Amino acid sequence: MKIILPDGSVQEAEDELRAIRHTASHVLAQAVKRLYPETKLAIGPAIDDGFYYDFDREGGFTPEDLEKLESEMTKIVKENLPVKPFVLPRDEAIKFMEEKSEPYKVELIQDLPDEETISFYQQGEFVDLCAGPHIMYTKGVKAFKLTSIAGAYWRGSEKNKMLTRIYGTAFSNKTDLESYLTMMEEAKKRDHRKLGKELGLFMFAEEGPGFPFFLPKGMTLKNTLIDYWRTIHRLLKEMEHKDMLALSGGKILLTSTQLENMMNGLDPYS
Ligand SMILES: [Zn+2]
Repeated sequence: MKIILPDGSVQEAEDELRAIRHTASHVLAQAVKRLYPETKLAIGPAIDDGFYYDFDREGGFTPEDLEKLESEMTKIVKENLPVKPFVLPRDEAIKFMEEKSEPYKVELIQDLPDEETISFYQQGEFVDLCAGPHIMYTKGVKAFKLTSIAGAYWRGSEKNKMLTRIYGTAFSNKTDLESYLTMMEEAKKRDHRKLGKELGLFMFAEEGPGFPFFLPKGMTLKNTLIDYWRTIHRLLKEMEHKDMLALSGGKILLTSTQLENMMNGLDPYS
């Protein structure tokens, strides 16, 4: 898939998924501006397993809003808007974002180093301050999903306003998206916080957020694991010792039978 750089040059994507995801974040922001035009835009990067965009909107967004946004995003993708970059001098860039009433973007531009090129990307009526790169048409965002909503402070500081972050993910095809979503569902089922509670192993309390308080059953399991670890550890130390001897004896690897002997507390070389 081809990508377009801020200077307008086009090249084959080195990291296609990242470019798709970053473009998906712009498609999301465009959908937000269409449905909730009073919303202010903060930042919207691609991340390891998808993308997010931070918004300033009174009351944030509900799961129902996400559904509406997904349908609007689907429309934007179908419109197949070309994604075009352009560059502005600093003063004009600030004026441009002031006219659009985007205070967060104005702040970002003001903080850019003097020598930095200030680039924007446009798709249809939507323009975002952005260093790119992007895929060339919105149609390339074929398989996406908005996954969650969270709070996030502007620029990560609790002194600043709390914004609403919408997380999503995007892939180059529907199959990859489906298998990612299935994997996430499976991971949720195995989440230690869920299992720990269901199996009565540990609990969480306000006194130590994120810290598991072991219940009697959990303590038994924990101690059993520690005992097992101790046994293995003792055996491994034994193996290190034997290995050194073994090397001088010309033996380097342990066979599975030898390992089994060792696990049973026998001399692997006997
Ligand atoms: Zn961007």
